[in-house]
Amino acid sequence: MIQLTNITKSFGKNDVLKGINLTVQKGEVVCILGPSGSGKTTLLRCLNYLEKPGQGEVTIGDYTVNCKKPSKEQIHTLRKKTAMVFQHYNLFKHKTVLENVMEGLVIVQRQSKEKARETSVKVLEKVGLGAKLDAYPSQLSGGQQQRVGIARALALNPEVILFDEPTSALDPELVGEVLEVIQKIAKEGITMIVVTHEMGFAREVSNHVVFMDQGVIVEEGTPQDIFGNAKEERTRQFLKRFT
Ligand code: ATP
Repeated sequence: MIQLTNITKSFGKNDVLKGINLTVQKGEVVCILGPSGSGKTTLLRCLNYLEKPGQGEVTIGDYTVNCKKPSKEQIHTLRKKTAMVFQHYNLFKHKTVLENVMEGLVIVQRQSKEKARETSVKVLEKVGLGAKLDAYPSQLSGGQQQRVGIARALALNPEVILFDEPTSALDPELVGEVLEVIQKIAKEGITMIVVTHEMGFAREVSNHVVFMDQGVIVEEGTPQDIFGNAKEERTRQFLKRFT
């Protein structure tokens, strides 16, 4: 289980997160929706301390970190329980597809190269890139690069994968292949938190939908609750834009 308790974050005078409480059960796929600037990405980045929250607590499994004065080891331990898929892939340009996936396993998890290679090939086959192991990122489409990003996250075998708008940098015709891969791994029971503007994906793939606006969670529930029966006017107004 993942729990965020009273998470706040400000950039200068801009209070971006105003006391977020969120529980994610093991194996759940949670989509976070909301207008631009509502704090979705910041919330995701607070979860693994890419941004340091102002206040609050982050729990992943049985490990809790209080944001007041976390030590480097605490942050490192928390981070190792997560993996992130970024909007702009963040691949190493001068490494091959296989090397990109192996990197975290060898450097962070200190696995042997043989074991790391075996795991990496397996996850790259899972995302449909078994034939591209020796290619460089520049030789791949955006959709393929993002699938490498997903493979890299999967290989780490984290307790949760955090997706930060994984398809928003892609040409429209490449969005489908990436969402299909995410849907496929969602079925394997990996806990996922996905910041997205893809309403179809949120509706079909997630178990739980969170709607944020202006630094607060306005409403959350099942996709049926949110898409079919939103209680809050702000949620209904937001969703109207996509119909
Ligand atoms: P989008 O859908 O456009 O990505 P979002 O809901 O993910 O938006 P955030 O990226 O979390 O929103 O940003 C929330 C607010 O925090 C915005 O006002 C943004 O300008 C501000 N912000 C985010 N990161 C920083 C930063 N590193 N420094 C200063 N302000 C920031």
